[in-house]
Amino acid sequence: MRRDEWDEADARGEVAPRVARSPDGGWLVEGQTAGPADLRARLERRAGQLADELAVLERQDRPAEGARPQYGKRIGDHTSDALETRRNVAAADTLRRQQEELRRALVKVEEGSYGRCDGCGEPISAERLEALPWAAECVGCRARGR
Ligand SMILES: [Zn+2]
Repeated sequence: MRRDEWDEADARGEVAPRVARSPDGGWLVEGQTAGPADLRARLERRAGQLADELAVLERQDRPAEGARPQYGKRIGDHTSDALETRRNVAAADTLRRQQEELRRALVKVEEGSYGRCDGCGEPISAERLEALPWAAECVGCRARGR
C-alpha cells in the first residue's frame, strides 16, 4: 500500500489502530477515544480466562468437599495421580502469578501509569507490552528481579 493510500484508508478508519506513547510517556491507542477501556476489556478478558483455567485445575486437584469418590479410580492410578497433581500445582502457581500481574496491570490502567515500569518508572517497550499486555516492569527490572 502506498503511503497516500494508507493515509486515505486511515482517514476512513480502515487501518488497525496503532498504539503510541502519549507525551507524558503513558500509553495511547491512536484514533481510538475508547483506548483505555479497550485495554481494560482485553486485560479483563484474559483475567476471566485465567480464572476459568484455574477453576478447572483446582477442580481436578481437590474434589469439592463432601464429594463422593470418583468412579473409575483404581489403586494403580495413584502414582500417575500424584504426578498429575504436582504438575497441576505448578500450573496453578503460574496462573496465579499471571492473575497477580493482571490485577496490577488493571490498577495501573486506573492510575494512568500503565505502560510505565513499576521498578524504574521508565516506559516499558512497545514490543514488550504487545507480547505481554499485563507487564508492569521493563525487561531490565524484570531480569534484575528488582
Ligand atoms: Zn524498569
